[in-house]
Amino acid sequence: MSETFQHIGVRPRTAASLSAAGYTTPNPVQREAVPPLLEGGDCVIEAPTGSGKTLAYVVPMVERLAGHGSHGARALILVPTRELCTQVAGVIRQVDRGLRTAVLMGGVGYGAQLTILRNAPDVIVACPGRLLDLAERGDARLGKIEYLVLDEADEMLDQGFAHDVERILAMCPASSGRVSRQSVLASATMPDWVQQMIAKHLHNPFRVKGEQSQEPLLEHGFMSVRRDTKLQTLSRLLQRQRTQEQSQTIVFHRTKHGAKKLARDLVELGHTTAELQGNLSQNARDRAIASFRKNAAEVLVATNVAARGIDVANVGLVINFELPETPQWLTHRVGRTARNGAEGKAITFLSDQDADQWKKLRKQGAPALPRLDGERLLESGEWILTEVHDPVPAGQAPSRERRPEGGRPRWHGRGNAFRGNRRAPAAS
Ligand code: ADP
Ligand code: MG
Repeated sequence: MSETFQHIGVRPRTAASLSAAGYTTPNPVQREAVPPLLEGGDCVIEAPTGSGKTLAYVVPMVERLAGHGSHGARALILVPTRELCTQVAGVIRQVDRGLRTAVLMGGVGYGAQLTILRNAPDVIVACPGRLLDLAERGDARLGKIEYLVLDEADEMLDQGFAHDVERILAMCPASSGRVSRQSVLASATMPDWVQQMIAKHLHNPFRVKGEQSQEPLLEHGFMSVRRDTKLQTLSRLLQRQRTQEQSQTIVFHRTKHGAKKLARDLVELGHTTAELQGNLSQNARDRAIASFRKNAAEVLVATNVAARGIDVANVGLVINFELPETPQWLTHRVGRTARNGAEGKAITFLSDQDADQWKKLRKQGAPALPRLDGERLLESGEWILTEVHDPVPAGQAPSRERRPEGGRPRWHGRGNAFRGNRRAPAAS
């Protein structure tokens, strides 16, 4: 028995647009978040990657705005990257074509953004830097904002963005006239320190956890690699992914420079490669994500700029060519696959040089990972995960007592399914 959007209080008109866009049944996170948001309260949505958080905050926004109005932007959605701005604006368009959305982000000229700002936008979807710039010049007006979203909230409130975000929040009214502002924070990760920010900025928020009832669909293992043969190993994995699994891969590198070099190396090895990192022009970034979205590139080599929010259906594999900085980044990176009920795989490369960083991540709460038999995978296509106590060299494993969450076994932790020894079909 499946519930429709109308069952959870959405107007027939909006439900019809949702259905036309292929969203007939609300996901669990939407069933939980939409009704309280429709009542006007604040909400914290902490739900796994790919669970459908965007619609969970966009649908109530569309309902609250109830069509185009000519008195200025009433909703503001802040996101950390330009690609995510574009993606979220696309979702709003799917749900209500009548709303005018101003997408404000750096790296592109001001002209088009100023035009839309002068043309009575209903919604602003923005990265903080450009919005602040436009708001301080008086071009973007935030005085009518009554629905505010921080997507990827923990990143928006972390050091890199916090200063700008706080200034933006200060420009939004706590309440406009008799209408009080509604705020939503969404992310797959809400580290402890975020609680203080929640207490500071939200009033009595409703908490949505997003149920994780079904078996996790992500299989994530670590693969021991040698630094000098890492590139060859990656190339063989990509080859296999393309020919046997017929799906795309995202490879994460730590640095912009490293991502650039790796992309170049992969091109030389014959892989159709898209590259996404912050040193590129916006034009080049747009082309990269577009070619990856339309499956013209088999692999996207990226920095963390692609780690959060990006939703591409055909991504069957995520590879951490280099370890991320924090357990949260690990969650978001591998969360680019196994989205919305699909299966996916992730491989984290570990070489001897990574031991210290891995140990640090584990101490900060990263899950222990099963070992992936890389040779078997590359030679016979079998995906075999073996539970190991801990991949960090003997004697360096974090003690159970010092694990941040009390040393619970983490095989079934968010986004890190371990499902025992499984043999993948050699080909499909
Ligand atoms: P999150 O922000 O939680 O990581 P997204 O909002 O990006 O997840 O949604 C993940 C994917 O699920 C997207 O491709 C989206 O179109 C799809 N999706 C979300 N809600 C539904 C729904 N109710 N029915 C079908 N697909 C959905
Ligand atoms: Mg999201």
